[in-house]
Amino acid sequence: MTTSDPGQRRAPIEIAPEDFRKAGYRVVDQLAAFLETLPQRPVTTGESPKEIKNLLGSKSLPEEGVALGSLLDDTIDLLVNHSLFNGHPRFWGYITSAAAPIGAFGDFIAAMVNPNVGAWLISPVASEIEAQTVRWTAEILGYPAGCGGLLVSGGNVANFVGFMAARNSKATRNIRKEGLAQGNGNRLTMYCSAETHTWIVKAVDQYGLGTDSIRWIRTDDKLRIDVAALREQIVNDKAAGYIPFLVVGTAGSTGIGLIDPLPVLAELCREFDLWFHVDAAYGGFAACLPDAPADLLGLREADSVVIDPHKWLYSPLEAGVALVRDPDNLRSAFSHTPPSYYKFDQNLEENPINYYDLGPQNSRGFRALKVWLAYQQVGREGYVRMISDDVQLARRLFDLAKEHPALEAFTQNLSITTFRYVPEDLEQGIEQVESYLNLLNTELLTRLQRGGEVFLSNALVRDTYLLRVCIVNFRTSLADIEALPNIVVRVGKQVDEDIRPDALR
Ligand SMILES: *Cc1c(COP(=O)(O)O)cnc(C)c1O
Repeated sequence: MTTSDPGQRRAPIEIAPEDFRKAGYRVVDQLAAFLETLPQRPVTTGESPKEIKNLLGSKSLPEEGVALGSLLDDTIDLLVNHSLFNGHPRFWGYITSAAAPIGAFGDFIAAMVNPNVGAWLISPVASEIEAQTVRWTAEILGYPAGCGGLLVSGGNVANFVGFMAARNSKATRNIRKEGLAQGNGNRLTMYCSAETHTWIVKAVDQYGLGTDSIRWIRTDDKLRIDVAALREQIVNDKAAGYIPFLVVGTAGSTGIGLIDPLPVLAELCREFDLWFHVDAAYGGFAACLPDAPADLLGLREADSVVIDPHKWLYSPLEAGVALVRDPDNLRSAFSHTPPSYYKFDQNLEENPINYYDLGPQNSRGFRALKVWLAYQQVGREGYVRMISDDVQLARRLFDLAKEHPALEAFTQNLSITTFRYVPEDLEQGIEQVESYLNLLNTELLTRLQRGGEVFLSNALVRDTYLLRVCIVNFRTSLADIEALPNIVVRVGKQVDEDIRPDALR
């Protein structure tokens, strides 16, 4: 130790309280300025991967430390001048929300106190806050508040949790002990439509069932799972000796926001004694709206539900929640006999919640705090208002696209609207024109994304390439939405001039 006073350790990573206060105020001032200027900034600078890489250079790991002040200043500069801002009022890509500022305070406080929410003993208040956050999440959905649940990184991992609870509950042998190879695991089958998010493929791979265990059920004309086809497949599989165990319904598909007929799926699962899992990562929170679609409310009947606070609760990344109706089904899917060095409960009489028993993680961060704070900052009423506004804006955009002579509106579900640019002199329906329109809109999207005025993404509906706006953004105003059609058409015209083949001129 390089200290002159042997009683005092001076660790290079420590920041003394007075320095912490100074640096902290400075960081907050800079971030407040960032918040102030955000609407005037481009959504993205559109820099190339090479340009971004060059910002960092190729220097190796620093041998010695640098001054704290300039380190923080430079880092904030780097990030606010070269990032893509999903908190910008005109960011509507994928399903990534603007981040609630209260969430930044939540993560900050969580990191300072740093509870390890793996076990109650080492995170007493934090464990109870997480339990309350899970209960409130169930409440806002109208799901039974006595359910089990926990926070994880996002929708993918939350879906894995539900998947494991399903497998453990419905498998006819003890797969946890015997593994798949010994038993009949290779006969387990599960059911979903092609609109299901890609987590499903990762789940069957990771947990050893393999992609052949997925029965991809065809969809109806609205891209919802075809229930008659589903029933037929289940009946046939049972007759052939398979063991159906799980049906996945989607509540707000990632592409166009469609909702599977959840109440009908729930009924079918009861009839065949199957686990009913609902992936409501994006759309679930719309269940709090007074005019929530009946199909969506069917998520209340599910054995497990996945929901992402980092989508429609506007929580900063990362925050996903898995809910399991019967808490015992969650515990028995993940709890194993603890090793001898796990003595978390010896002095605790009341059997407190130990989250390492309820999910795949061991050490766990305090993700719940930012969600818990936001629930209290705005209340249920605040969320109803913001989610409802997002939906209204998406509907308004659909109408604007419908009215515009050079735009064609396609779908409108929840807060997702799809449309495409169609030059007025082109006649749709002809094969050659259709394939050109796909090319045109693909290139148009690329230019819009690089341009920084707005940020959209795309959807593909029955081979038609569409521009897709997903509003999970409490900063978007009506003016932002009303500006979009003319931006799309202006850039679309340029692209059309540049790339239209002679045969179509
Ligand atoms: C976003 C999404 C996922 C994946 O969630 P992540 O938080 O990105 O891991 C899964 N399913 C649906 C329906 C989604 O919208």
